[in-house]
Amino acid sequence: MSEQAFDVIIIGAGPGGYTMAIRCAQLGMNTAVVEKDAGLGGTCTNVGCIPSKALLHSSELYHTAAHGFTQHGIKVGKIDIDLPAMMAQKQSVVTASNKGIEFLFKKNKITWLKGTGKLLGGGKVDVAGESKGTYAAKHIVIATGSEVTPLKGIEIDEVQVVSSTGALKLPSVPKSMVVIGGGVIGLELGSVWLRLGAEVTVVEFLDRILPTNDGEVSKQMQRILAKQGMKFKLGTKVTATKADKKGVTLTMEPAAGGDKEEVTADVVLVSIGRRPYTTGLGLEAAGVQLDERGRVKTDGHFNTTAPGVYAIGDAIIGPMLAHKADEEGMVLAEMLAGQKPHINYDAIPGVVYTWPEVASVGKTEEELKAAGIAYKTGKFPFTANARARAMTMTDGFVKILEDEKTKKVIGAHIIGADAGHLIQELVMAIEFGASAEDIYRTVHAHPALTEAVKEAALAVDGHTITI
Ligand code: FAD
Ligand code: NAD
Repeated sequence: MSEQAFDVIIIGAGPGGYTMAIRCAQLGMNTAVVEKDAGLGGTCTNVGCIPSKALLHSSELYHTAAHGFTQHGIKVGKIDIDLPAMMAQKQSVVTASNKGIEFLFKKNKITWLKGTGKLLGGGKVDVAGESKGTYAAKHIVIATGSEVTPLKGIEIDEVQVVSSTGALKLPSVPKSMVVIGGGVIGLELGSVWLRLGAEVTVVEFLDRILPTNDGEVSKQMQRILAKQGMKFKLGTKVTATKADKKGVTLTMEPAAGGDKEEVTADVVLVSIGRRPYTTGLGLEAAGVQLDERGRVKTDGHFNTTAPGVYAIGDAIIGPMLAHKADEEGMVLAEMLAGQKPHINYDAIPGVVYTWPEVASVGKTEEELKAAGIAYKTGKFPFTANARARAMTMTDGFVKILEDEKTKKVIGAHIIGADAGHLIQELVMAIEFGASAEDIYRTVHAHPALTEAVKEAALAVDGHTITI
């Protein structure tokens, strides 16, 4: 019996895979997506961006109601947490997103092949599961995403020692939590449980949190989070954990070597990074090679080492971000349709959804110094922004970096309320090759947080108005 054939088969329905599938269908390709999970949307929708942002928002509302209203002259009675209701709210957001993608698949006539996909070589994919069978396609796309990086000597049971997945569904607020890894997940999910009442200690191997961010941002963010009650142990590594009824005992020592120390906590979150997920995909038989870090090797145009097989998203080189994956999906769909789209890897924003948010795009000061690029800096604090004062949200600053020679904005770093939205103006500036002057000659509404962006741009040329 001949197998069912498609123009494109995409393995994985995360932001990379589902966006690509929709764009392929819009461009007239007969498209199928293999997905093994019960809900479409991948890590991002099911156990990543969406549930974490739901809990971050709910916990922030609780924290503001409990600690932030008095200053605004609002008196409230006793504030309490209903954790099961908070978790149900989170789940409803996830389910709505799952259903939304399923609706879009039906609307665009995309076939969902339910099960686990494996490359067979020669343009064929085997599916094990509900849609069991062999399927053929002109183009096959690996969009299988990533998984939690384990830590040697530490067993994740998702109850006492959890990954981000377990940390998104704790049944009660722990008294104490140790977070291993002071990166994005550690600070976001650490913030959730800190706001809800846990004592949170972040253990970070390096000498700074958020090590890929601009150094000034890392330092100030640590100060702000410390003021909120988060504790930090930098330059420290955890070598073992032992869980029993009383809690988890962690053994740690200075990263540079030194005396061991033991600490106990109710819950330990392991968040030391994620690694590409390609288990059981049949890569070797299909001629698809991995690079030295386990990522699917691509040539800069999403071609793998096997003809007709492509890869996108967390499974390949680049930042592990949902919007990077979905952009790559869109671009590859258009390339397969014969178009010539582009993707600008210098203009990919990154946002950490702590309070306040951290947002960045382009180069850090450290990167520019290392590359020997001369640059000008413009900085503006939110304490000098009237809208931020009205909101009682004056923590943080906007920093803009402009290339001294080309006069183009090449980096921007924000800590502040709504930084994740504010950064978009600077992403656009980099995409369009704008200068700081282009930004400040653009009229900004008053009173608004965006005026801090304008003032930081003015600061690049040395003439802020309000400081
Ligand atoms: P994924 O979303 O990982 O999807 C891959 C899919 O492939 C999965 O559904 C998997 O089941 C499926 N799959 C794998 N192998 C097979 C197979 N053989 N057969 C069938 N199906 C298969 N990014 C942001 O930009 N913003 C955020 O706020 C953010 N928050 C995050 C919070 C957390 C807690 C985590 C863990 C991640 C977060 N991320 C965030 C990162 C983001 O989730 C990823 O960058 C994004 O999901 C990558 O998309 P992808 O399509 O490459 O892969
Ligand atoms: P990360 O790379 O952001 O941070 C990991 C941290 O752990 C780093 O600071 C690293 O120095 C530290 N570390 C590594 N090994 C360690 C060890 N043995 N002991 C102590 N510390 C150690 O990784 P993450 O926070 O796990 O997130 C994984 C990925 O998910 C990231 O690539 C991120 O882009 C993505 N993500 C994005 C968002 C967002 O965009 N808001 C949110 C969550 C996750």
